[in-house]
Amino acid sequence: MSVGCRHSYIRFFNSLFDDVFMQLSVYSDDYFMREALKEAQRAFDADEVPVGAIVVCNNQIIARAHNLTETLTDVTAHAEMQAFTAAANFLGGKYLDECTLYVTLEPCIMCAGACGWTQLGRLVYGAFDKQKGYTSVQGKILHPKTKVVPGILHEECSALVKDFFKGKR
Ligand SMILES: [Zn+2]
Repeated sequence: MSVGCRHSYIRFFNSLFDDVFMQLSVYSDDYFMREALKEAQRAFDADEVPVGAIVVCNNQIIARAHNLTETLTDVTAHAEMQAFTAAANFLGGKYLDECTLYVTLEPCIMCAGACGWTQLGRLVYGAFDKQKGYTSVQGKILHPKTKVVPGILHEECSALVKDFFKGKR
């Protein structure tokens, strides 16, 4: 085996190791979605529609929030809106292009619009919302550079919402 060939083998195994490491890393999308789910549970316990959101920057949670529409008597107090305000306060800047938003439910059109205004780096959401989700309408609402990962832990995320509305009937 030539030296060059051996190097490319090493590079191959290194990249394989990186992939495996990323999957085993505690800082996975599943891990952070579980943190967003904790927020959704807090909303549930406060008799709010159980949606939770967190903002992550360099694997650090910089904002945690949940839906507060009843508590604040404010229809715009969705989890994402609260999380963006908290994240901007933490960073001292309004743009979140280096950040990931984890939210347990597909954002509505208002919140997707807010994602656009923040120039969000990544949007990761759990449950799908066919009625009110932003993907139910045509058009580019998010910032063109925002990467989207839908459906992370969607069963757990939607179970919480279903349980909440079951209790309301
Ligand atoms: Zn919303």
